[in-house]
Amino acid sequence: RARKRFGQNFLHDAGVIHRILRAIHARAGEHMVEIGPGQGALTEGLLGSGARLDVIELDKDLLPLLEMRFGSDANFTLNAGDALKFDFNSLVADGNKLRVVGNLPYNISTPLIFHLLEHAAIIEDMHFMLQKEVVERLAAGPGGGDWGRLSIMVQYHCRVEHLFNVGPGAFNPPPKVDSAIVRLVPHAVLPHPAKDHRLLERVVREAFNQRRKTLRNTLKQLLDAQAIEAAGVDGSLRPEQLDLAAFVRLADQLALQTPAE
Ligand code: SAM
Repeated sequence: RARKRFGQNFLHDAGVIHRILRAIHARAGEHMVEIGPGQGALTEGLLGSGARLDVIELDKDLLPLLEMRFGSDANFTLNAGDALKFDFNSLVADGNKLRVVGNLPYNISTPLIFHLLEHAAIIEDMHFMLQKEVVERLAAGPGGGDWGRLSIMVQYHCRVEHLFNVGPGAFNPPPKVDSAIVRLVPHAVLPHPAKDHRLLERVVREAFNQRRKTLRNTLKQLLDAQAIEAAGVDGSLRPEQLDLAAFVRLADQLALQTPAE
C-alpha cells in the first residue's frame, strides 16, 4: 500500500514508464543513481540497460521487495536512507560521473534539487518526475511569474529541458496534480560564473522576497542605488524582469563590499 508520508505515487502505466526510460537512455558502463525506487517501476528498465545502478530508498518496508527483485543483479546496489542526507561523493570512487534519476516525492523535490546542485561537478545529468508547476518554474525565462529563485539557481548550474507531461492516471494512487519530466544537465563551464555563488543565492532570495516591489526597494538592505547602477541594472525594475546575468552582476557588486570569509 502506498504511503502518503513518503510521497508515494507508484507508476503503473507501461507506456509512460517506457517513454521515461527512453528519455533517460541508460547505457552499459554508465553509473545511474535512482532516488526513491519504490516498487521498482523504473528500476527494472534501468538495470536492463546493463548500467551500474545505485538506488536510495527511505521506506524500510520496501527494501525486502527491492532486494528480492533486483538483489541478484551484480550491477545493483540498494542504499537504505534519506536521499537528502546521502553522500553522493561516496559513489564516484571509480571516476565515473553520476546520472541521477527519480520519480520524486513532491514534498522533497526542491530541497533535493538544491542538495544535488552542490554536487553538480560529479553529475552528468538528472531526469526527474516533478509536479508540472515546478518543472515550469525550473524551465522559465525572465519576464513572467514562474521566473524566480528556483529557476535562477538551477539555471546558474544547469541547462533545463521540460521533456513531457504526465497525467495523474499514470500513477497509483493518482496524485492531485499534473506531473512532468525534466532533464537537468550541469554546465561543463558556467555561462555566468559569480565571484561567490552564496552571494548570488542571497541577492536572489532577497530580491524575490517581495516580487512586486522594485529592485531598489527589495535590495536596499544589501546594495545601495550606486551599487545597483554599477552592476548595470535599472533599480526601478521588478526582480522578475532581470535575467541570470544581471543577478550575477548584482552578486558581484555585493562581493566587492563583503569581506571574504
Ligand atoms: N520510482 C517509483 C515509481 O515510479 O513507481 C516510486 C515513486 S514515489 C513518487 C517516491 C518514492 O521515493 C517512494 O518509494 C518513497 O518511499 C521514496 N522516498 C520518499 N522520500 C524519500 C527520501 N527522502 N529519500 C529517498 N527516497 C524517498
